[in-house]
This record gives sequence, C-alpha cells and structure tokens, in this order.
Amino acid sequence: MTAEPTPASSIMGDPGPTGRFGGFGGRFVPESLVPACMELEVAFRSAWADPAFHTELDGILHHYGGRPTPVTECARLSEELGVRVLLKREDLAHTGSHKINNVIGQSLLARRMGKTRLIAETGAGQHGVATATAAALFGMECVVYMGEVDTRRQELNVFRMELLGAEVRPISSGSRTLKDAVNEALREWVASVGVTHYCLGSVMGPHPYPWMVREFQRVIGEEARDQCRAILDGSDPDVVVACAGGGSNAAGIFAGFADATSSRLVGVEAAGGAALTGGIPGILHGMHSALIQDEAGQILEASSISAGLDYPGIGPEHAHLAELGRAHYVSADDEEVLEAFQLLARTEGIIPALESAHAIAWVAAAAGRSELVRGSTVLVNLSGRGDKDVAQVRDLLRGRA
Ligand SMILES: *Cc1c(COP(=O)(O)O)cnc(C)c1O
Repeated sequence: MTAEPTPASSIMGDPGPTGRFGGFGGRFVPESLVPACMELEVAFRSAWADPAFHTELDGILHHYGGRPTPVTECARLSEELGVRVLLKREDLAHTGSHKINNVIGQSLLARRMGKTRLIAETGAGQHGVATATAAALFGMECVVYMGEVDTRRQELNVFRMELLGAEVRPISSGSRTLKDAVNEALREWVASVGVTHYCLGSVMGPHPYPWMVREFQRVIGEEARDQCRAILDGSDPDVVVACAGGGSNAAGIFAGFADATSSRLVGVEAAGGAALTGGIPGILHGMHSALIQDEAGQILEASSISAGLDYPGIGPEHAHLAELGRAHYVSADDEEVLEAFQLLARTEGIIPALESAHAIAWVAAAAGRSELVRGSTVLVNLSGRGDKDVAQVRDLLRGRA
C-alpha cells in the first residue's frame, strides 16, 4: 500500500469534507454527533497520510492477519461454468473474512487518538467477533451492541465475543435487530466519546465512515490487481464480482480496479435485502443512500438466508457507482445461493460463507445465460469462509429432502 492520499479525481477517491459521493453519503446526524465525526475525520486524514501508520498497519495485517491473501485459479469450477474463475481468498484471513482489515485499521487509529475503548454494532455477529478480536489484540475494552433477536439467532457468536473478552449488550428497542444496534452504538459513542471509538462495520453511516472503511478494505483490491496481472500475463480480469451487504468487501476489491482497469464491476445483493436493485433513496444511520423502505418511508426488515447481508441499506458510494454506471448491481436468491454454496465445495474444496456464495451464484447464473461471455475471466471476492454456515445449510437441505 502507498501512503499517498487517494486523489480526489479518482472514481473511488477522497469524498472531501462533505463526504459526498455524487448525491449520496454526507453526514446526517444530530448536532451532538458532529464533533465526534469531525474528530475522527481529522485523525483518519492525518493517519492515512502518515507512512508510519501504514507501516504499522501493513505489519499487523501481515504477521497477525495473514495478508496478503492468495488468488486461487479454479480449474474445475471454470470447466463446469465455461468462464475462467479466480477467487480472492479473504476466507483465509484471520477470523475467516475481510472484516479483520477494517477492525485492525480502526483499532490502530483509535489507539493513535488516545481511545481505550471500542464499541461496535453487530447483526450476524461477525463484525462483533472481529472487533472483539482486535480489542483483545490491543488490550482495549470492548462493548458490542446487538439486537436481542440477533443474540438469540447467533448464540455461538455471542459466546465467541465473550471468550474474546467483550461485553455483548442486547438491544430491545425497535425491531431488536441490526438497525437498532447501530442507533444504540451511535448514541453510546456521543455519550462517552472521550475514551470511546465507534468501530463501524461497513462502508455506511455518517462521513467519514464510508470512505474510511473503504480505504481500510482497499488492500483487497490493490493486492488482487497485482496478483491477477501476474496470473493473466499483465491483463486485468474482464469482470470483478463481490457480494454486497453494507458493501465493504465489494468497495475494497472495486477500489483496486475502478480507475486502473476497464474491468466490469458487479455487486451482488441478497434478493431479500436488495437496496440498489429494489430500494429507493433515503436517509438512515447518518447517510443518504439506497434503502429498502415502504411508501411511508418506514425502513423494512431485510431477509436473507445469509444473516451478514441482512442490512436494509447499502453504502452510499455504491449508490453513486451505480448512478455513474461504473459498477452494476444484481441480486441472487436463497435457492441459487444454496446451489452455489454446494457447487464451490464440490468443485474446488472450498466452503464459502453464504454471503460470498451470492457472488458465486451470480457468476453461475450469468454464465448459464451467456451474460458472461464464454472464456471470459472473472475475479470473485470470496469474502469469507463457510464454517459458520454449515449447520444452517445442513438443516435447510435436510428440510427439503
Ligand atoms: C459481513 C460479511 C459480509 C457483508 O458485509 P460487506 O460490508 O457487504 O462486505 C460479506 N461476507 C462476509 C463473509 C461477511 O462476514
């Protein structure tokens, strides 16, 4: 990674002090939250321009996080689908997904800001586990807000967070899910901002989070571009595909390709939570973005086989990339995802996270429809491993047998 600030002229560049990505993004928060957001923005700008910060971050991501993650060529899957599939293996990073990149970055930044305490929101529990991991590594206190409904659905992750030394606080307001946990974390952040950093889990929320989290995930795309050029004799993949919940793994891999290549960028949402393919613009959690809502503007519950894609919105930069036509957004339904989960396991010996299986599902469907030209090269961001999902998939498959 370079310590050069991303030029503002870049398609995925610095959104400037307003945090706007075209008409999306911004900082729609109560006045009491503005100083905390501004302090964070100033600290991030300074850290991101400081070579010493990058040296330390890169060192931890390497020695602790397992970076660089490999790019794997999928001979058998390619043969089956008729397109050449390469996987960026974020499943091999510590804690089993790309989330470690963001939490290590934010924790280092928090420490640099003199904060001793991390708070986080979590839905499926994966971001809570990653934050608790980073807090343990840096010896910081950690509190994770989780909707009460989710604490029951994701019991094992609650236990994991506790093992890692974090306190999990169940939220019983609203729908008692992720959306409410974000609201509570934002409130708690203002109340204790002197010692607390809010470690937000995706490219969403008020400025500077969508930009900052994308920059912490950019390492995926930077590595993958160089790795693909080595494999493809200097060429770039024809298509780069990633699943999108909040959109952080997609933003991270897209950032390596948006300016530098003519690769087509495709984000795959869960059909039951498709903010860009089925939502409308609105404001939630401090950002203007695409959201699933009813005619009265009430935010709807997202529903998907994969708990990690259950967010009713998507990061504002994706709304902008869609508007520009630089990236395209599609969706995959639960049925296709279950097929893809099994397909990757059977053909490559890799069990993907259900979230990541959305990206594979789209590749399989698009290859079948010849929307992907035969023989074209497709890089898929395999955002995480599927061990966490095996029991659920077993039950779903048995249920229909
Ligand atoms: C959390 C998670 C996602 C969804 O989050 P994004 O911010 O959209 O990347 C995707 N894949 C895995 C494995 C996850 O854990």
